[in-house]
Amino acid sequence: MVDWHKISLEKIAKQLETPDGYIRVSGPLEHDNIVNGEGLRAVLWTQGCPNACPGCQNPETWDYEAGELRKIEDIKEELASFRGQSGLTFCGGEPFVQAKACKEIADYVRKELGWNVWSFSGFTKEIIEEYGREPLEFLKSLDVIIDGPFILGQRDLSLRFRGSKNQRLIRMKVGTGKTLSIE
Ligand code: SF4
Repeated sequence: MVDWHKISLEKIAKQLETPDGYIRVSGPLEHDNIVNGEGLRAVLWTQGCPNACPGCQNPETWDYEAGELRKIEDIKEELASFRGQSGLTFCGGEPFVQAKACKEIADYVRKELGWNVWSFSGFTKEIIEEYGREPLEFLKSLDVIIDGPFILGQRDLSLRFRGSKNQRLIRMKVGTGKTLSIE
């Protein structure tokens, strides 16, 4: 029998190794986005994903060596130039394989720009909590995680911000990762 729990832990352990102060992105930063979370949002598209969900809409974001390596300081500066945004959403790729870099950016936009922070993940919240380390610290820095892999057989285009029924929109207490509500 396939042990999905063990496979998930092995996948999240495959952290992408970027030099300190850098993040690997799959495309340009976006602003005024209204489809990846509530309000007007900036979006950071991370590069690298170990999940390989059948039916993934962004397979070009899987490769750990593709995309562009960008300085985190430059990302911060560009985000600060966006006006009227209420938050930042991390999309992928898989943001949690670059958890350290994502947390640094999440902390910056919350503290310096007053934004809320959301992230998508192909991992469940429980797997991130069990694995711990940098992924757990990034989780704790979020207001919302939309978790779980995209499952083609459970696709539902009527869901808000999600692609398949297994995915959950989980609101959390910032700083602890405690679940406040699940949609
Ligand atoms: S986690 Fe997201 S980016 Fe990765 S394979 Fe699944 S749908 Fe694609």
